[in-house]
Amino acid sequence: MASLRFKALETLSSRKPVGVKREENLISDYYGMLVFDRPKMKKYLSKEAFKGIIDAIDNGTTIDRKIADQVAIGMKAWAMENGATHYTHWFHPLTDGTAEKHDAFIDHSELGGVVENFSGKLLAQQEPDASSFPNGGLRNTFEARGYTAWDVSSPAFIVGSTLSIPTVFIAYTGEALDYKAPLLKALNAVDKAAVDVCQYFDKNVTQVGANLGWEQEYFLIDEALFYARPDLMLTGRTLMGHSSAKDQQLEDHYFGSIPERVSMFMEDLENEAYKLGIPCKTRHNEVAPNQFELAPIFEEANLANDHNQLIMDLMNKISRRHGFCVLLHEKPFAGVNGSGKHNNWSLSTNTGVNLFSPGKNPKSNLQFLTYVVNTIKAVYDNQDLLRASIVSASNSHRLGANEAPPAIISSFLGTEVNRMLDLLEDNVNERKMTPDEKTSLKLNIGRIPEILLDNTDRNRTSPFAFTGNRFEFRAVGSSANCASAMIALNSVVAHQLVQFKAEVDALIEKDIKKDEAIFQVLKKYITACKAVRFDGNGYSQAWAEEAERRGLTNIKSVPKALEAYLTKKSLKVFEDLGIYTHGEIEARVEVEFEKYMKKIQIESRVLGDLASNHIVPIAIEYQTSLIENVKGLKEIFSDAEYKQLAGARLDLIRKISGHITEIKSQVTAMTEARKVANLIEEGHKKAHAYEATVAPYLSSVRYHIDKLEEVVDNELWPLPKYRELLFTK
Ligand code: ADP
Ligand code: MG
Repeated sequence: MASLRFKALETLSSRKPVGVKREENLISDYYGMLVFDRPKMKKYLSKEAFKGIIDAIDNGTTIDRKIADQVAIGMKAWAMENGATHYTHWFHPLTDGTAEKHDAFIDHSELGGVVENFSGKLLAQQEPDASSFPNGGLRNTFEARGYTAWDVSSPAFIVGSTLSIPTVFIAYTGEALDYKAPLLKALNAVDKAAVDVCQYFDKNVTQVGANLGWEQEYFLIDEALFYARPDLMLTGRTLMGHSSAKDQQLEDHYFGSIPERVSMFMEDLENEAYKLGIPCKTRHNEVAPNQFELAPIFEEANLANDHNQLIMDLMNKISRRHGFCVLLHEKPFAGVNGSGKHNNWSLSTNTGVNLFSPGKNPKSNLQFLTYVVNTIKAVYDNQDLLRASIVSASNSHRLGANEAPPAIISSFLGTEVNRMLDLLEDNVNERKMTPDEKTSLKLNIGRIPEILLDNTDRNRTSPFAFTGNRFEFRAVGSSANCASAMIALNSVVAHQLVQFKAEVDALIEKDIKKDEAIFQVLKKYITACKAVRFDGNGYSQAWAEEAERRGLTNIKSVPKALEAYLTKKSLKVFEDLGIYTHGEIEARVEVEFEKYMKKIQIESRVLGDLASNHIVPIAIEYQTSLIENVKGLKEIFSDAEYKQLAGARLDLIRKISGHITEIKSQVTAMTEARKVANLIEEGHKKAHAYEATVAPYLSSVRYHIDKLEEVVDNELWPLPKYRELLFTK
């Protein structure tokens, strides 16, 4: 019987690109057609309801029951006209995806039969049976009630036949059980702190929003081959596989011509995304074979994050229409590039100013430098917290590996910005500056070239690079919920800005002029956080050594990195700003420890199974045929000839035996290690045990399997090989 691998390979030649049905010719004609956006609100809501909801979106006012009822009626009418029969509260629990439970609009009608209903109550709040979402012990089962509450700032949308309402998910007692609730709090905190600092420069600023532009990297694998790889199906990555003779060494994939079948998938995906108001902008081949990227135009961070969650979901669904499976894992294949999700982040004001864009005069440039310096100071002070926000079992294979940021957090600023910071550092001192000194400094600050954006040197090896008008947090993993990184980043920057304001105000109290006070505090920060500025090659060993000399941390262990959430410093940031309580953060870290442990546990089980029932039997089968062959040689040749001929075969038999023996004994030892680790009660100790005693087998068992793949008859090998996974289009 042909193995699943060969059956899968046979289907490949008949794969044809699947055409895409476009709604209209112009994207702008159907963009957002499935979103209950402002124009639709205007059309479907009463004046009063429209005003109420716009006020809530723009100014954070609350919506009363009467208005909520009116909004629900309008929303239902619109949704039903667009084919919706169900509604759901859509939320982001602390898992790898989103959650939804669909309810039909129907209710019993008085006349028998049913009637479609939807109310403000159902729109605003739901109580899903949520006891089986990760909660880190926040909800004991006796009060396992959680509820979802409408996030008015992100518009409702229709997927399939379901009206989806973005919501936060919190425990009955108010603690957050999701990513969205703390993200909204962090965005609020940075808004407030940044507005306060903006007052030094422009009194008209009343609102500062954080923007997020994510770049999503992913792999596409033929569906048939995917199903022939249990490791991909169950863990999202290949736990074994000898590298392909050719992979990315010719550098011929990056920005290469997009294969037709892939291109059809991309068009289909974008088409669906546009209907949902996701502004997809860029698509291209990435570095590794069968690796691609999609990036939208940046948006307000909460909306952008919802859109990223939606896109990942759409990718999973739409890839199937084209006979593909999408891999969002950070490192599906050893030896070639992994996938990240760069988080491009900036702050902009209600007056239309991007606070990370240099301006045209000394004042706006000083504002620009203020935000840049505070950001890198926050990054320096909270490097461990930022790392904690992006680590995971899957991202740990990528960080520090091929073409991925190291586990050291540093910031690239580029020549121009560095020059300005050096200037400030060298020319400001604690004594009062003379008017001449001040004028000259301001003149210099005013000279940041406007063309900075086009001129920013690009450094692709920095985990936190300034790229002309934004910072790019590049260490975020491709499968992550961006909120985790965005909560941490916006919180630490908010916290830093609050501190900055306090220090500047204290100097102003002492009769130091505002400008000079700002200069002085910035200078202090520039000196304090110098170690985090690094423009060189972040992937080099030399940098790891240099970073150590500079006192930057380099934590590669996931459980250890996660512990940074619980330091006094991190707790203070979150508690001061009211983003998490101590209990909430503990629960969250508990969830992360558990997630880490379970992922390694699953990988270890899958590897054990595959080793024992896919690989070893095939290796034995091949070995047996070699033994038969050797026996035959002995029968038909003279002793002398036999000795000459059989040597290489006997070596091969020994080699295969050696690998089989190693695999068997290591799989047994790995199982034992799991058993021991499973007895540990405490989450973080268990995670550490899994990392130290189970995870190492994932690579050592793999080593022997990959060696076998090299020598065992290709006709027998049961799993699709790297060359097949990576090069079929
Ligand atoms: P690259 O690959 O060179 O980093 P891309 O064009 O692929 O650049 O992605 C850049 C991302 O940054 C896009 O999502 C874009 O919308 C986003 N972006 C651009 N300007 C800003 C900004 N001011 N704030 C946040 N994101 C931004
Ligand atoms: Mg980028």
